[in-house]
Amino acid sequence: MVDTEAAISVRGLEKIYGGRSPKRALKGIDLDIPQGSLFGLLGPNGAGKSTFINILAGLVRKTAGEVRIWGFDLDTNPRNARVSIGVVPQELVFDAFFTPWEMLEVQAGMYGVPKHERRTAELLRAVRLWEQRHAYSRTLSGGMKRRLLVAKALVHSPPVLILDEPTAGVDIELRQLLWDYVRELHAAGTTIVLTTHYLEEAEELCDRIAIINHGEVVACEPTAQLLSRIDEKEIILRFGTPLETVPPAFAGFRSRLAPPDGLVLQISRQGDDIAAILGAIAACGLPVVDLSTDETDLEDIFLQITRDGAREDARAE
Ligand code: ADP
Repeated sequence: MVDTEAAISVRGLEKIYGGRSPKRALKGIDLDIPQGSLFGLLGPNGAGKSTFINILAGLVRKTAGEVRIWGFDLDTNPRNARVSIGVVPQELVFDAFFTPWEMLEVQAGMYGVPKHERRTAELLRAVRLWEQRHAYSRTLSGGMKRRLLVAKALVHSPPVLILDEPTAGVDIELRQLLWDYVRELHAAGTTIVLTTHYLEEAEELCDRIAIINHGEVVACEPTAQLLSRIDEKEIILRFGTPLETVPPAFAGFRSRLAPPDGLVLQISRQGDDIAAILGAIAACGLPVVDLSTDETDLEDIFLQITRDGAREDARAE
């Protein structure tokens, strides 16, 4: 059953690209994106992220399955489904001789937004393109073009905004600007879906993350829950003098040397190893000059999940 309360709900979504060697890009995906979430769609290249987004945007026809956007069925109510989302595409495709102002006006016209309801000035200011409003778009930088595409996706005030790899090729400062604006939109109630390769960004920004690999959803959880999946943590000790072997005081721990003077201890987050480690540090007879910890991050989980998936694929073949 599709979830009619969700911002986006898909069931059994399947895409097979035809041609000489047909490619099954989406293998019967089930996914619910809750209203009001800031949802990250992660996956390696070729996983099927763009296919998924392009189906929602109406750019790619699905082979099978059910898609609902803001409760509207893509097959039976495509118009309402379409106006419920704004999509910021990956490619920076522009008509070079339109100005930002004209581009937003034309787009608003295409969506039938009446003149008195248009938000052209507000949007241009919000994405910091007010100064450039009458410049030809070919003269804009990559970051400015990206922000213009965000404004363009918002002219009809959709409740859901989808960003496909929005920070590809955008420099750090502008990336921050873009994310600040995305956060603002989210705070004002817009549901945000983004695909990204930057795991850190998804970790920092998204409250829920789905990982897609080889056309399948392999994880879909609140970010914190996903992060807690791996229970491991590392404590890194530095002794200031070279270490040839693991000091006997640490014999009871899972450990490895980190030359020249380091020792890495692996502990479980929930475990009660901390007191024992402090005891071993006191007992080892060596002065510790530095102590740091390394938490599991999304990258570790991502690698683990996609590696497990690859192993299962290999077994299935
Ligand atoms: P991602 O966005 O995660 O990188 P895509 O959705 O672009 O993944 O691609 C998923 C799979 O579908 C890939 O194997 C890709 O080669 C294939 N694919 C994408 N678009 C087409 C197309 N137009 N024709 C044939 N195969 C395609």
